[in-house]
Amino acid sequence: MVIVMERNAPQDQVESVVERISEIGAKAHPVIGEERTIIGVIGDERKFDEGMFRSLPGVENVMRILQPFKLVSREFKKEATTIKIGDVSYGAENKFLIAGPCSVENEEQIIQAAEGVKASGGNLFRGGAYKPRTNPYHFQGLGFEGLKLLQKAKQATGLPIVTEVVEAGDVELVEEYCDVFQIGTRNMQNYRLLKAVGKTQTPVLLKRGMSATLQEFLMCAEYIMAEGNHQVILCERGIRTFVEYTRNTLDLNIVPVIKKLSHLPIIVDPSHGTGRRDIVTAMGLAGIAAGADGLIVEVHPHPEKSVSDADQTLSFEAYAQLVKKVRKLESALA
Ligand code: PEP
Ligand code: MN
Repeated sequence: MVIVMERNAPQDQVESVVERISEIGAKAHPVIGEERTIIGVIGDERKFDEGMFRSLPGVENVMRILQPFKLVSREFKKEATTIKIGDVSYGAENKFLIAGPCSVENEEQIIQAAEGVKASGGNLFRGGAYKPRTNPYHFQGLGFEGLKLLQKAKQATGLPIVTEVVEAGDVELVEEYCDVFQIGTRNMQNYRLLKAVGKTQTPVLLKRGMSATLQEFLMCAEYIMAEGNHQVILCERGIRTFVEYTRNTLDLNIVPVIKKLSHLPIIVDPSHGTGRRDIVTAMGLAGIAAGADGLIVEVHPHPEKSVSDADQTLSFEAYAQLVKKVRKLESALA
């Protein structure tokens, strides 16, 4: 249920509505907009109804949300959400251009990669310290050592860090070293992990599970938001289909559909979505044309030497070209 407060309703009225919500055993999720505050009411909807809130001072309207996902839904919040990272807000007006290697490998590689991403026009730096690999004999990531190297890359370039967290017990540690948590495709439905990042206020990049339906994907974003963290970025990274000429099938249909159903930003990962460097640029641009709020792309100083995902990794030159084209496409679409 959503409670829409009157325009410029004073803080004490908002507070007493929030108090009433906790009295009935539900959880209040206030969102303070420029003109008005809306309050999500999350809990067992059999225990409360619209009438319980309608007559409270400052309340303009009370609505039930029909979708199973509530806080994620456009019914809850009409305006597109922007995500604040450092001092900068990202979203529809300022696209997320996240790039960097699949894995943190060593100091030289990660510093070079961050400098190359920055020089190419990327605005956020990615790199995996904890790598959930399909094959247990493949490189598993540098772990804590990798986090410390990411911190050095940030110090060298100023680029905020996006890195994957793979288990709930690591959330506190990873949070010290990152600006955005990445939840990978294999962990999309790791509900304990979702709840753990949901308890922080650090933005979360949630990648779609490789076999997840639209609803399952959005329900996972709901898990994070229900804990109080509303800073969620969705990411389409390709799904499993019968095709064998690409690693995954990049489901770009989901971009405009999510834009309709949700206020959250959605970005596209054309690297994992294709598995092929020769088509990463084309599919990245297609993602932007479909309405995505940005891209996450694998880039390495020596792509062919990447210890993971070499086949889909771009050089700095190729990434710089991609960024240039994204900028052109943005102005053509404006
Ligand atoms: C990655 O970003 O390197 C990664 C492992 O992605 P995904 O979880 O989408 O496979
Ligand atoms: Mn990868």
